[in-house]
Amino acid sequence: MKLHEYQSKFRFADYGIPIPHGKVATTSNEAFAIANDVGCPVVIKAQVLVGGRGKAGGVKLARSPEEAEQHAASILGMNIKGLTVKKVLVDPASEIENEIYLGVTTDRAARRSVIIASAAGGVEIEEVAAKTPEKIIRVLVDPYLGLRDYQARDIANDIGLPREHWKQFIQIAQALYRCYVESDASLAEINPLVVTRAGDLLALDGKMVLDDNALFRHADLAEMRDSDEEAPAETHARQAGLSYVKLDGEIGCMVNGAGLAMATMDMTKLFGGSPANFLDIGGGAKADKVAAALRIILADPNVKAVLFNIFGGITRCDEVAHGIIAALEEVQTNVPMVARLVGTNEQEGRDILASAHMITAVTLADAARKAVEAARTAPARIVKETL
Ligand code: GDP
Ligand code: MN
Repeated sequence: MKLHEYQSKFRFADYGIPIPHGKVATTSNEAFAIANDVGCPVVIKAQVLVGGRGKAGGVKLARSPEEAEQHAASILGMNIKGLTVKKVLVDPASEIENEIYLGVTTDRAARRSVIIASAAGGVEIEEVAAKTPEKIIRVLVDPYLGLRDYQARDIANDIGLPREHWKQFIQIAQALYRCYVESDASLAEINPLVVTRAGDLLALDGKMVLDDNALFRHADLAEMRDSDEEAPAETHARQAGLSYVKLDGEIGCMVNGAGLAMATMDMTKLFGGSPANFLDIGGGAKADKVAAALRIILADPNVKAVLFNIFGGITRCDEVAHGIIAALEEVQTNVPMVARLVGTNEQEGRDILASAHMITAVTLADAARKAVEAARTAPARIVKETL
């Protein structure tokens, strides 16, 4: 789950990181009032969950409340990389001397958190990473010791930060690391962290990505989720308790168990097809969950066939079969379906599906081959499902 800039920065501020004290507006009138309140000049910033807002025209400087109102009016409703702007952050503007990049993420290979920093921060950071990677400093953090003073000092030195800013930089880097760890984040980023004309460090932009699997222990963060900004399929999957990842292929897969789902995707590939999604309905899935999963799969217009691969351990095959039939009564479709059910009550399950004219299979290889074949010869879809 991604946090908006304002949510990330407010969280950073809780950890003592200096941020501009702005407020969020949903109308241009509100932006006028906030600009009046915090004092001009202000920056009006689109709050959408993508980067590169500045280059897309979503960050504008205003010298008066009237100008703030005009900019807010033009930014609200703007489409940035497919997302509609519904909120703007109105921040007091800063005079920038220098833009630094500072972030924390996970280095999977090293199995540690890594601090990433660069003197060449700002909107061109991707370009810096691609063309001059030597300008980017990386420091691994020992999880038991945390980010030590000397490490933060080394970073400040390596990015050529003038010594008078080191004390503040060290505090910010350590605070950002703590915020990252305590939020169960996979990314906490300040870009740019600026040195102002007045000689202070200030986090002008913020971004956080949280680990969805840890949200259960962060009720305050979980409720910051902005469902408006999520693909509808992901919202529905989350609400139904399904693990779903959309992919680009044509074979919708419904599987119970993450490992089995991976194997099913591999098999689909092996027989010349391509999976439209990863979908794990989990153990003990009942009919309503199966129906929700089927609706999500069929809402993807690329899907030409659906492959069910169910191992009946805790989940009973007849229960899943009932779920599929119930779902098919609601979701009218001519998309061909192939089912492979094995385990508890498999014969009952297969009988139920065969009576509904579904293609059944006993082995996974057989099921994958049939699904690929069905997708290849499938007629045009007559009903388009929407979520
Ligand atoms: P992003 O493009 O989505 O990363 O949005 P940012 O919040 O990082 O803003 C993009 C750029 O706008 C920054 O790198 C700054 O150069 C500029 N910017 C943002 N806030 C201010 C400000 O208060 N004053 C000035 N002068 N520039 C700003
Ligand atoms: Mn930025």
